[in-house]
Amino acid sequence: MSAFAYRNGALHAEDVPLREIAAKYGTPCYIYSRAALTDAYHGFDAAFAEHAHLICYAVKANSNLAILNLFARLGSGFDIVSGGELARVLAAGGDPRKVVFSGVGKTATEIRDALNAGILCFNVESASELVRINQIAGELNKVAPISLRVNPDVDAKTHPYIATGLKESKFGVAYDDALALYRRARELKHVKIEGIDCHIGSQLTDVAPFAAAAERVIELVRHLRADGVLLSHIDLGGGLGVQYQAEENPPSIGAYAAAILKSVAGCSEKLLFEPGRFLTANAGVLLTRIEYLKRGEARNFAVVDSAMNDLMRPALYDAWHDIVPVLQAENHAETWEIVGPVCESGDFLGYQRRLAIHEGDLLVIRCTGAYGMSMSSNYNTRPRAAEIMVDGTAMHVIRKRETVPELFANEVLLP
Ligand SMILES: *Cc1c(COP(=O)(O)O)cnc(C)c1O
Repeated sequence: MSAFAYRNGALHAEDVPLREIAAKYGTPCYIYSRAALTDAYHGFDAAFAEHAHLICYAVKANSNLAILNLFARLGSGFDIVSGGELARVLAAGGDPRKVVFSGVGKTATEIRDALNAGILCFNVESASELVRINQIAGELNKVAPISLRVNPDVDAKTHPYIATGLKESKFGVAYDDALALYRRARELKHVKIEGIDCHIGSQLTDVAPFAAAAERVIELVRHLRADGVLLSHIDLGGGLGVQYQAEENPPSIGAYAAAILKSVAGCSEKLLFEPGRFLTANAGVLLTRIEYLKRGEARNFAVVDSAMNDLMRPALYDAWHDIVPVLQAENHAETWEIVGPVCESGDFLGYQRRLAIHEGDLLVIRCTGAYGMSMSSNYNTRPRAAEIMVDGTAMHVIRKRETVPELFANEVLLP
């Protein structure tokens, strides 16, 4: 059951009516359900119960400290892609020994900080990065735990901006170069080979590419074993999709786990996963108020108080999010373009929505717990939204609404 459901015609987050949140904290705001986050984590964890595993939540999906802290309390590790995300994980009480560090552009400072924190593993994405990590670890008199992120060259069949496992992609080490690079890594004094890693893309709605990638990775694991290189873990990345609209049918967590466990049958290495969207997307909504209804010659616009700076996915990927009223209305629906106040024609949240609405009504943009707040910006000098965590009947402000003076506090006039 969704944590966001209607009761007597009023949309609730767990036991709290959303209009109460709007009245108390204003709009726009992101609202999360603690129960939904917890259930998603437990669902993923239980699906892999038969194989030793570690969930490393992909921080970039939603990096609010309260959410990281909640996952840390559930036992989660973290997949980070920057030094900033490492700092967040540490500030949220995450265990650095459960942190994997992905990304193609790790700077020397980021590598140093991660070594000093004592992370579980660097997911190395190039030969140059391997050399740099070895050198920095040497300077610090440490040994860096590493995996190579291999590019299995499988088509994830997702939006091109979030497909990462094709030959053409900037991510990972080419499949055919991986063994040679492992052999090089073995000769380096300040790195220790711990695992292998892949991540083929995001919002995958089919299990076949996951299974294909896992099988390609296992093939390399076998070659490495024959070479005498024994790994502690196999990291199969994230990418499991969620249902944004009715036509989309992502695999259940059970079907996903069954396909992967079949591909890794006979492997004793620990499995690592880096789910982001799966853990948070359905646990969050964006609450917004209609400022104006504007009837045009060709289209009718509902101008709301949230925009592409709050939720970038529609403008960036042409992504669909369901948009529903907070109070269910009886009167007849019309077709509306739901747009924000930002000065860009790409500033829309949803096109062609059938809704019965009035100025001042509250709307909810569903399934925005992942890549919503974390991709937000201050474009048009718009303060970023507040974030509220609901837990039963309790509401917790987990991020205060930004103020305008904060937005230019670091800017300086010329002398
Ligand atoms: C973005 C990303 C993830 C998470 O992807 P989801 O689709 O949110 O599960 C995992 N690993 C890496 C390396 C990523 O870049």
